[in-house]
Amino acid sequence: KMAMVFQDALSSLNPVLTVGEQLGEMFTTHQGMSKKDSRIKAVELMERVRIPAAAERVKQYPHQFSGGMRQRVMIAMAMALEPALIIADEPTTALDVTVQAQVMDLLAELQREFNMGLILITHDLGVVADVADKIAVMYAGRIVETSPVHEIYKNPAHPYTKGLLQSIPRLDQKGQELYAIKGLPPNLLHIPPGCAFNPRCPMAQDICRTDVPPLAKVSPDRASACHFWKETLGE
Ligand code: SF4
Repeated sequence: KMAMVFQDALSSLNPVLTVGEQLGEMFTTHQGMSKKDSRIKAVELMERVRIPAAAERVKQYPHQFSGGMRQRVMIAMAMALEPALIIADEPTTALDVTVQAQVMDLLAELQREFNMGLILITHDLGVVADVADKIAVMYAGRIVETSPVHEIYKNPAHPYTKGLLQSIPRLDQKGQELYAIKGLPPNLLHIPPGCAFNPRCPMAQDICRTDVPPLAKVSPDRASACHFWKETLGE
């Protein structure tokens, strides 16, 4: 019912098995299919994710594929058993921007075609804006803001989200110093008391250093884990 696309296809695929063997294994293991039939299914899957000359390339090893094509193989593997949900963990990190766009388009298209849920884990807010309906921003292992995607870009309800958005370089702001959130992410073994973001937050007050803010509703479809979400929203 669930499948995962990992971020680094080269280290996720088995280097000593052909791509066809790895795709086919999904069908032999889970559906008891013969090796011959599973090979046919592997070629179909490769065609579905638009890998050219699939019938030939099914016999090749992962190192014989480009980064983008390897990621397509990972997507094909995740799609094999037609799951209800795909979790894609930074699926485009190692790829250049053009290939990144192609892989994201492919994921979005397959998601629509097969009516699957897609959870995309990423630090790239540009990718999120294109693909997602809803966004959950996490800090130190905890969700700090949830929102329909476009509202978060217009008016974030958590200072961390605000800092992330401010950190994106903009073409219309040439000559200005790039913004960065001060400090470093916390050591997860020693999370600061109160709000985990307090040592880095420009809005932190005394309560932030003692009380963990709950994830509170700020509107029917939005929530923020900040004591001062109203001020962050400018209300
Ligand atoms: S609770 Fe305080 S420290 Fe945490 S994000 Fe809100 S203002 Fe900043």
